[in-house]
Amino acid sequence: MKITDVRAHHIRIPYDAGVASFRQGASAISALDMVLVEVTTDAGLTGWGDAFAYVCPRTTASAIDEMIAPQARGLEVPDAKGIPAVMEQIQRNLHLFGRYGITMFAISGLDIALWDLAGKIAGVPLHRLIGRTRRASIPAYASLLRIGAPEHIAAECRKALALGYGAIKLHETTAAAVFAAREAIGPDIPLMVDMNCPLTAEQAIAFAAECRAARPMFLEEPVWPPEDFAGLAEVRRKGGLDIAAGENACTVYQFGQMMRAGAVSHAQPSVIKVGGVTEFAKIAALADELGVEIVPHSPYFGPGLLATLHLLALRDDGFVEVFHLERPACLWNGRVDADARGHISVPQGPGLGYEPDPEVMERYRVS
Ligand SMILES: [Mg+2]
Repeated sequence: MKITDVRAHHIRIPYDAGVASFRQGASAISALDMVLVEVTTDAGLTGWGDAFAYVCPRTTASAIDEMIAPQARGLEVPDAKGIPAVMEQIQRNLHLFGRYGITMFAISGLDIALWDLAGKIAGVPLHRLIGRTRRASIPAYASLLRIGAPEHIAAECRKALALGYGAIKLHETTAAAVFAAREAIGPDIPLMVDMNCPLTAEQAIAFAAECRAARPMFLEEPVWPPEDFAGLAEVRRKGGLDIAAGENACTVYQFGQMMRAGAVSHAQPSVIKVGGVTEFAKIAALADELGVEIVPHSPYFGPGLLATLHLLALRDDGFVEVFHLERPACLWNGRVDADARGHISVPQGPGLGYEPDPEVMERYRVS
């Protein structure tokens, strides 16, 4: 069976997050922009992948068309054992265009689609293809967008708990925000604090001390720049809190550097950024070896969320990240929404388990 084509689909679904938003300067997420990667074959089977796109969907789609499709067209479709070698060759072929960022997002999209195809060919769900299944459903945490005002944070936390979520993540940078959330959710609900890289190591150590009494499960990416692993390690040593990072790291090689530097207690590979299922699985294996927890980055709703559920099904613990917002349509017809207990069922069909709804794709298609 040969790959006949690789095509990017830009889908844009609006969302409503109430008082919350995501904005870093001019870089705002104004809708859920997704780039789905469709790999077609001469046997009529299709695999679906997902490449990170937030504010760069046209750029990511161009990378698929211009860099990825020519690498993959005409290749024999690899089985599960063959995918890592195919993907390493493509990483080698494209390494001079960047080891993190658009190139790796596009590579991730192809990789996920190849795993979907391999699962479909073998007739088993992705989680069974790559390991031993340990969980049929995954507890989700509500990942709140940035809110700012402590009173609004408290209200949004209560709303998330009322929906069934058993854990919460803030995207905030003040101690007042952290304490407002803790007060709203009580002492027992895990509370994660994602800062998105604003501070020096010294400032981050002070912030950690300030927040300690609110008992965050971890501080996520407190330090600028994100690749300052020595700085993160210092914050972890002196701040007295666990540290999470990894959504801005790439491949098992850089995760190895980060984890061996002692930078993180929790590693956060993002399957649509890090190099796909192949790199994620390698990172999870290395994290287990080094005693680091895996808490994936997955604030997205395309095939990447499905892939994340499969990868978490192989682990005894670990939450799945779900963006806390309302959206008018879902590619999976609501089947990956958290239930009243705050859990998401792991898809059990072949490959990723579900096919994107063609009607939703057409209605929200940009290109
Ligand atoms: Mg984050």
